[in-house]
Amino acid sequence: MGVMRTVAAYAAPSATEPLVRTTIERREPGPKDVLIEIAYAGICHSDIHTVRGEWGAQQYPLTVGHEIVGVVAEVGSEVTRHRVGDRVGVGCMVNSCRECANCLAGVEQYCLKGNTGTYASVDRDGTITQGGYSTHIVVDEDFVLRVPESLPYESVAPLLCAGITTYSPLAHWKAGPGTRVAVVGLGGLGHMAVKIAHAMGAEVTVLSQTLAKRDDGLRLGADHYFATGDPATFETLANSFDLIVNTVSAELDLEAYLRLLALDGTMVNVGAPPEALPIQVFTLFANRRSFAGSTIGGIRETQEMLDFCAEHGIVPDIELIAAADINEAYERVLRSDVRYRFVIDIATLA
Ligand code: NAP
Ligand code: ZN
Ligand code: ZN
Repeated sequence: MGVMRTVAAYAAPSATEPLVRTTIERREPGPKDVLIEIAYAGICHSDIHTVRGEWGAQQYPLTVGHEIVGVVAEVGSEVTRHRVGDRVGVGCMVNSCRECANCLAGVEQYCLKGNTGTYASVDRDGTITQGGYSTHIVVDEDFVLRVPESLPYESVAPLLCAGITTYSPLAHWKAGPGTRVAVVGLGGLGHMAVKIAHAMGAEVTVLSQTLAKRDDGLRLGADHYFATGDPATFETLANSFDLIVNTVSAELDLEAYLRLLALDGTMVNVGAPPEALPIQVFTLFANRRSFAGSTIGGIRETQEMLDFCAEHGIVPDIELIAAADINEAYERVLRSDVRYRFVIDIATLA
């Protein structure tokens, strides 16, 4: 396994206990590796699903976090893409097989052998990957992104998951001038979807449980805002969207939302509740509707998204917290009380 170094981290001791400060091991950088001193790490709802075992059993202790921004502290002898001192980012994956059809097509997130997740995945040395709630991480240079310095350092981390996860389907299904896009759920992913779809030129509608965040939604770039708690919303908006991006982390009545799609419209699920969600094919027959899934984005597309956000001045709305506040932040995410992403100041962990 080679030489390791011990670094500070926050980890879940089990599926049911709060996260605690601890230490974890990082490998010494190999020839192609970059050692990153982490400055900020976002809190994604996937972190919570994972540590609580909602997506399947995990090995504990487990450190999560896959919205990582920091500075290159060391590079291996064969590294060419990054230099010491560069501002860089790491998202949801740290490796893939690099030889399957999907990897060769530049969509490593769909690696046919399964990409190596930034946490809770089996790494090539057989250890379980540990994520960004820690002071340092060692990553193969090909999975490290350049983070434009024009984007504010403490706010940029959520682009590495929430940003790319919404950018990728919006780009794939061609959100732009003349398209009517609905975003379901105004949380971490949802608020990025609104900003990005607006910047792409689409007409954007937020579908949130209540009208409580209406002013925010319009400020973020939405043209319209409706409460899904009001049954009239589903009548008013029937057959009216070309694309619906569903970011909801819980079970949802998909049928009700599918009926909002216009001719040839697509509803793409990026929300990842553990439960199976039923669909009647007859709802898809009407208007020749599609139901699709999408997960994160490839490395090339993630770089494209970062550069797009720099060009358009798109910055996540964040609440900066100390590491000691992670457990409280989790509770707030679970109550949909997040505006709109928690980011951990890793300096408070060192
Ligand atoms: P989040 O910040 O908690 O946002 C989720 C939003 O969904 C909430 O703010 C809330 O919006 C809405 N919501 C929550 N519970 C609901 C319920 N019972 N009924 C209706 N709406 C509800 O979470 P996130 O970090 O954006 O992640 C969202 C989901 O995407 C999670 O399941 C996460 O694991 C998944 N995810 C997937 C990928 C991928 O690659 N596909 C990547 C990242 C995350 P309102 O208050 O506006 O209603
Ligand atoms: Zn995520
Ligand atoms: Zn592959």
